[in-house]
Amino acid sequence: MKRVGILGGGQLGRMMALSARQMGYSLITLDPTENAPCAQVADQQIQAPFTDVEAAKRLAAESDVVTYEFENISHEVAEAIGYKLIHGTELLFRTQHRIREKELIEQLGYKVAPYQGVQTSEDLLGAKRQLGFPFVLKTARFGYDGKGQTVIRTELDLQTAMKTFEATEYVAEKWLPFDQEISVIVMRSERETKVFPVSENIHQDNILHLSIVPARIPIDLEQKAIELATRLANDVDLIGTLAIELFVVGSELIVNELAPRPHNSGHYSIDACETSQFEQHIRAICGLPLGDTRLTTPVVMANILGQHITALDEALPMLSSRTKVHLYGKQDAKQGRKMGHLNILADSVEEALAEVERLQIWKE
Ligand code: ADP
Ligand code: MG
Repeated sequence: MKRVGILGGGQLGRMMALSARQMGYSLITLDPTENAPCAQVADQQIQAPFTDVEAAKRLAAESDVVTYEFENISHEVAEAIGYKLIHGTELLFRTQHRIREKELIEQLGYKVAPYQGVQTSEDLLGAKRQLGFPFVLKTARFGYDGKGQTVIRTELDLQTAMKTFEATEYVAEKWLPFDQEISVIVMRSERETKVFPVSENIHQDNILHLSIVPARIPIDLEQKAIELATRLANDVDLIGTLAIELFVVGSELIVNELAPRPHNSGHYSIDACETSQFEQHIRAICGLPLGDTRLTTPVVMANILGQHITALDEALPMLSSRTKVHLYGKQDAKQGRKMGHLNILADSVEEALAEVERLQIWKE
């Protein structure tokens, strides 16, 4: 039986490991944090920084196949892992930099929000001229959960952004008045491609709050999203998982960003699909046939952040047996930190949303 190496020991690695364990694989993870969420269910953790090339070599030596739970992996580390990094590096390097990612999406013929690269505070003036207010300034690298983002709505915001400008690479993007946000997750192996049902995503403070499945969108848009995901996966020769975040603007789909790994908006699949995104990911990288992705029940996935933990504890005894609890084994319940999620199964998404209201966990 194979040994799977996972770069990154957070919740995504943990949920990959849980699926892999069930299937009998052994696991080793590399993460700098002691007793990282993934390490709690893996056989072994190499505790080292993600930049440690020697540690990455050890991970590769101990594994038959290596995957990752996040895209910020350096060229040196990817090279140290070599052919065992089953996904290859092309998509990884493209998706870890917002401008390179957008260029790829456009080259393949898909739409993104109008954008401009920004490297100096002067460039902000050009961005404003090109895009108009409001626009959003995002660091080109290392952003997640809305971190590294500033929305610039007025001349005053612009002046403040220019004064406090920190030199690094950014992308300025036109702020899109979207109707909805949706995402679609696709898995591809050498033999086949499977797409998960489209999820409708509600963000709070730029962090995912709810995923609603089935998404409340017209059927033709849903089909469009599934087609886009299938084509995109083929276009980039995907091996593994690709999550695609989309803005719905009228009858158009605009690509927001890509993630070459399982995604928060796919957590619903653990309890509401025949095969979860994590099992599917392990199947794709270990050479098993991919599973059926059909939805078995309407579902709302609700994230539990640090500030929700106390309310969750109080609500636990009141939860319906159709509400599935997933906690990640993290110690510090910091504001905005993803601590877990609930998968609320119901006969309709309206019922699941009513349950979200009833639980009172997300009232600030
Ligand atoms: P992250 O890597 O933090 O997920 P995103 O680019 O996906 O970064 O931004 C987080 C959220 O911020 C999005 O899901 C969306 O709600 C909002 N957002 C980002 N860019 C735009 C935009 N150009 N127009 C409107 N909303 C945006
Ligand atoms: Mg995002």
